[in-house]
Amino acid sequence: MGKKPKIVILGAGYGGIVTAQRLQKELHYNEAEVTLVNKHVYHYITTHLHMPAAGTDSVENARVTIDTLIDTKKIQFVKSTITAIRPEQKQVELEDGVLDYDYLVISVGGEPETFGIPGLSEHAFSIRSINSVRLIREHIDYQFARYKNEVDRPDCLTFVVGGAGFTGVEFAGELADRVPYLCKNFDVDPTLVNIINIEAGPTIMPGFDPELVTYAKDVLLRKGISFKLGTAIKECTEEGILTSDGEFIKSQTVVWTGGVRGNSLLAEAGFETMRNRVKVDPYLRAPGHDNIFIIGDCSIVLNNDGKPYPPTAQITIQEAQACAANLLSLMRNQSLDTFKPNLKGTVASLGKGEAVGVIGKTKITGFLASIMKKVIDLRYLLIIGGIPLVLKKGKW
Ligand code: FAD
Ligand code: NAD
Repeated sequence: MGKKPKIVILGAGYGGIVTAQRLQKELHYNEAEVTLVNKHVYHYITTHLHMPAAGTDSVENARVTIDTLIDTKKIQFVKSTITAIRPEQKQVELEDGVLDYDYLVISVGGEPETFGIPGLSEHAFSIRSINSVRLIREHIDYQFARYKNEVDRPDCLTFVVGGAGFTGVEFAGELADRVPYLCKNFDVDPTLVNIINIEAGPTIMPGFDPELVTYAKDVLLRKGISFKLGTAIKECTEEGILTSDGEFIKSQTVVWTGGVRGNSLLAEAGFETMRNRVKVDPYLRAPGHDNIFIIGDCSIVLNNDGKPYPPTAQITIQEAQACAANLLSLMRNQSLDTFKPNLKGTVASLGKGEAVGVIGKTKITGFLASIMKKVIDLRYLLIIGGIPLVLKKGKW
């Protein structure tokens, strides 16, 4: 019998965990050796992160220990940070070793896109991991405590959300829900708190259905959020932000939600990239590397109009399922299937009991949409962990 092929999966986010689970299910006994590498011992549910960031849900509901999601007798789990990918040597460098592979799945997600705006990396927060959202939550609480101890510091109660895409809007909605509790706990007059969502585009959620955008904006205005639209953040300092209309907004809390780029590991590995994302072939492989699949936020898949699909969990999960199937076909010398996403719609939360979305061709708003958002979130828990995970981590 020949040597067992080695499959290495990089990253245990949506793409990595679903690929690993699929391979675990479909591989024959002794057919391959599979290793999953991730920075942390847990998988985090990125689509929940705006809630623990604002403090409206616990961090624990947004993470699941990886060894409860995979069978570690079938898939080896390595907790480590990947420092380099070497396609020519068929090797991956980790902070504490090197892994050889025959087949590689790259699903290391993305990084905040700061567009080189001065000071953003140094002074703004971003919603991207369990650790980053813990910091945001603690920082927000600290600003309320600080306000009560320092004289005349309205900047402690001014919260800037930079970018009103889906992440910005979802976070602003949650933060507005938390403000009354914070004000009560810290004896602060709620009228002194400002949440300002700044968006470079002409509307919030640019490109989304205009009727739903109007609905969302009205809900968020009612919650006390103010918007500065058609205005870009130009600089971020320790004191606040400078906007394209020349205004300087003093704020001790700037949360940057201005978009994502791929993981810098991709460009450093020598792949041709656009903002660190690799345009994959129809089977989800890196061009020129038949043994390397790239999925999720670090890949680009084009739609029929030649435009990239937005990087979402929804498409990543489907890519992971297709990637696992194609990887097995490749190993078994069978033909590969072209990846065709089957997108069901989008629902964005606007805080407690409010959301907007499109499912198929149907627009939904309000309580119904918020229930639909919960159903989508619960469905993901069901896919990766069955009913026990839904009961343990699901938020109703
Ligand atoms: P990720 O889920 O980010 O996983 C990447 C994994 O790789 C992580 O576990 C990370 O720790 C690991 N990793 C990265 N670098 C290294 C390294 N050097 N070494 C080791 N491990 C590493 N999409 C939707 O469809 N619906 C939503 O409702 C939605 N809500 C969102 C809400 C927020 C607040 C945000 C930020 C995004 C949301 N998205 C949503 C987008 C969605 O979360 C992403 O598209 C999705 O997470 C991409 O999955 P991924 O596997 O590519 O990356
Ligand atoms: P995004 O790229 O969708 O939105 C970023 C926003 O920031 C844009 O509206 C952009 O115009 C704005 N912006 C950029 N530079 C700016 C500047 N200098 N000043 C002010 N505004 C600026 O990024 P996102 O919201 O983080 O979303 C990332 C991906 O995750 C998207 O594909 C999104 O669809 C997905 N997502 C989905 C959901 C959901 O389905 N409920 C929730 C969150 C995120």
